[in-house]
Amino acid sequence: MNRYTEIIEKQRLFFYTNQTKSIDFRKKQLLLLRDALRKNEHILEQAIYADFKKSKFDTFTNELALLYLDIREALKKLPHWAKTKKVRTNLINFPAKSFIVPEPLGVCLIIGAWNYPIQLSLAPAIAAIAAGNTIILKPSELSSNTSSVIAQIIKDTFEPSYFTVIEGGVEETTLLLENKFDKIFFTGSVPVGKIVYQAAAQQLTPVTLELGGKSPTLILPDANLKIAAKRIAWAKFLNAGQTCIAPDYLLVHQQIKDKFLAYLVDEIKQAKYSIDAGNYVQIINERNFNRLINLIDKEKIFYGGIYQAEKRIIEPTILCDVDFNHISMQDEIFGPILPVIVFNDLQAIINEIKQRPHPLSCYVYTENKKTAKNIIHQLSFGGGAINDSIMHITNSRLPFGGVGNSGIGSYHGKAGFDAFTHYKSILSKPTFFEPNFKYSPYSDKKLQLIRKFMRI
Ligand code: NAD
Repeated sequence: MNRYTEIIEKQRLFFYTNQTKSIDFRKKQLLLLRDALRKNEHILEQAIYADFKKSKFDTFTNELALLYLDIREALKKLPHWAKTKKVRTNLINFPAKSFIVPEPLGVCLIIGAWNYPIQLSLAPAIAAIAAGNTIILKPSELSSNTSSVIAQIIKDTFEPSYFTVIEGGVEETTLLLENKFDKIFFTGSVPVGKIVYQAAAQQLTPVTLELGGKSPTLILPDANLKIAAKRIAWAKFLNAGQTCIAPDYLLVHQQIKDKFLAYLVDEIKQAKYSIDAGNYVQIINERNFNRLINLIDKEKIFYGGIYQAEKRIIEPTILCDVDFNHISMQDEIFGPILPVIVFNDLQAIINEIKQRPHPLSCYVYTENKKTAKNIIHQLSFGGGAINDSIMHITNSRLPFGGVGNSGIGSYHGKAGFDAFTHYKSILSKPTFFEPNFKYSPYSDKKLQLIRKFMRI
């Protein structure tokens, strides 16, 4: 028992009233959330600006738009997703009916990360609402302005016994995790993911862990280099590289290295990344800023390497000719620094990636479908793209999540509904017929009959 137990218990009592299970109730809450977001767009934009100096354009495209699309899809497909589904009954149970009942898990804890603080807090919440759960949301304390605006919006829109926000950092999250939840959905780093998983194990609580990692991006000699450079520059420097699925490092074939890097530098120059242009943001805090500038190895700077400590801005930086032992290759970068490893032997580089923890994403730039397929087939990673980066996240038909070190489970679209749903299996039998072959006394004849029925 601690200071959060009471609200969790209140939510559990509310859940047991069964109100959240009706489709109408769920739809109504989704509409309430949509309207609250619309009404407060400007306040949310200001909060994101205060946390990152992010523009209205980026806040809409990277945060709000995805939520509106999620709500629209859930409103449309929810009746189908939540429907009881009949399945065929096996012969041995004849005559009977079999069906699967999707049911909400109960009281869900959602822990968000700071890098897309609206989207990463509310997209799982939309899935939890659609699936009929109650929600306790803990946004990241690092994006503190956005966290308090989200808390206020939720407080103004929902009863706390249904959906509430608890603000705070390590201390508050640790206390929350001492309680019993029916589901924990965590977005964040691998080390904290392990802490959350351990706490969940104490209560046998199911988890979804949306973690990070070093996402490789391969550029092969036959790639459309100009387009590759454009798409990679956009994906890497969006949010100043503070994106879990940003290309973490590049693997560029020796043959096209000079040409590709020239295109990449052109793209960076053309984009004119800056806060004034609205296409760039500051680094979230001093700790991350200092961590990042330590990765800028002066010997390896190919482009950029300039930063302003007082504004926490690091300009797009390319480090060239690094190897897997380089300081920038040890941990996820999560900032606007892009190491480039040059290679000759594709299979050797695939083998190198295989030695490392499974990444959240992987991107392959080539015009050869067979080569792309071969690389995707050999490597294990959460999700990715051929001739693009990041954009797979926008297709809600693609479950989004990691594998191994980059996470457990997935969400978005139907996968999000599934993450917060238990599929309850029911066999329903009439009583007018009761064959006795499974009951004792056993006999060889009964055994034969059973084998016949089972076709074994
Ligand atoms: P983080 O792990 O430091 O924090 C995430 C959440 O955990 C925050 O709400 C924080 O308050 C809480 N937390 C921090 N330390 C804790 C502790 N000791 N005990 C309990 N709770 C604790 O991660 P972050 O810095 O907010 O986000 C960056 C990381 O998240 C990167 O690794 C990135 O790749 C990953 N990420 C993954 C996704 C995804 O969808 N897979 C999305 C965004 C970010």
